[in-house]
Amino acid sequence: MKQGVSEDVVLHLTEAIRSWGLTPHVSRGQERTVIGIIGDEDLVRGKPLEVFPGVESVMSVVKPYRMASLASKPERPPVEVPAPAGGPPIRFGGDKIVVIAGPCSVENREMLFSLAQRVKAAGGDILRAGAFKPRTSPYSFQGLGVKGLGYLAEVRRETGLPIITEVMDTRDVEMVAEVADIVQVGARNMQNFNLLKVIGRCGKPVLLKRGMSNTIEELLMSAEYVLNEGNDRVILCERGIRTFEKATRNTLDLSAVPVLKKETHLPVIVDPSHGTGYWDLVPPMARAAVAAGADGVLVEIHETPEEALSDGAQALLPDTFDALMRQLRKIAEAIGRRA
Ligand code: PEP
Ligand code: MN
Repeated sequence: MKQGVSEDVVLHLTEAIRSWGLTPHVSRGQERTVIGIIGDEDLVRGKPLEVFPGVESVMSVVKPYRMASLASKPERPPVEVPAPAGGPPIRFGGDKIVVIAGPCSVENREMLFSLAQRVKAAGGDILRAGAFKPRTSPYSFQGLGVKGLGYLAEVRRETGLPIITEVMDTRDVEMVAEVADIVQVGARNMQNFNLLKVIGRCGKPVLLKRGMSNTIEELLMSAEYVLNEGNDRVILCERGIRTFEKATRNTLDLSAVPVLKKETHLPVIVDPSHGTGYWDLVPPMARAAVAAGADGVLVEIHETPEEALSDGAQALLPDTFDALMRQLRKIAEAIGRRA
């Protein structure tokens, strides 16, 4: 309350609080009076506390994300992705660091198959590649669409590697979920709430990327949309945010990893490819991500980055990816995990 509020003003507010079915708890200090409100948070949501006379500021001690909050599942159950060819599932949030790698886009059948072999040989867990691409310019390569999805289904069958691919449109969710082992929501769609709701009903695990201009709390509220539809297999991804810095494509917010670990039971991975935009910055930031406690990393690779149809500048050559995998194993081991 504002300094020096009268008894009447405090009484007026505490009576209103009681009339909503909540219990006011008044603490009086020398100069300040603080009114705590105890009870079901639903009863207080939307009540215009700020407009009551004498109120200086209103603050919630309850997190707005309920299902995503660490308090709701303090045991942090890992998110499981069944292996396409049977066998043990891939677990995000266990002691194993999950490595997702692949090209930015499915460009053709041959490149997808050859890169899938490289991911598998290096010990990567999941193949990534976009069939539907969210490009800044309508004149840039938009992805192979349905044809690309077909190649992903084929490579999944032949290699046994699980597939992650992005869906941008509510109308495509069913079709993408039929092929993908994990459905990706890109940074640009993190707050496409209708898409989140439909994806929440698709029955597949979801990788939710942080929007480039979104806070950690907003990321968790978006996860809440998916969880609220009954899908509890949500994996969060830090992929860099927009800042004033121009030396990198985005500023990779690695501190989001330990912050998210304090706030949520959901697994957290890091994408240093989109997070930095330059291939030579990817290995150091991938190593740092694992050291910071990420449950996995997502990296883009390409055999001829100079000819890539999207994001060539940030693609690792397969040999560089091999070397990175070896380093990640050592870092994982140093912190009591595996990669
Ligand atoms: C991607 O992973 O293919 C992608 C487009 O990333 P982001 O949504 O993070 O930009
Ligand atoms: Mn990309």
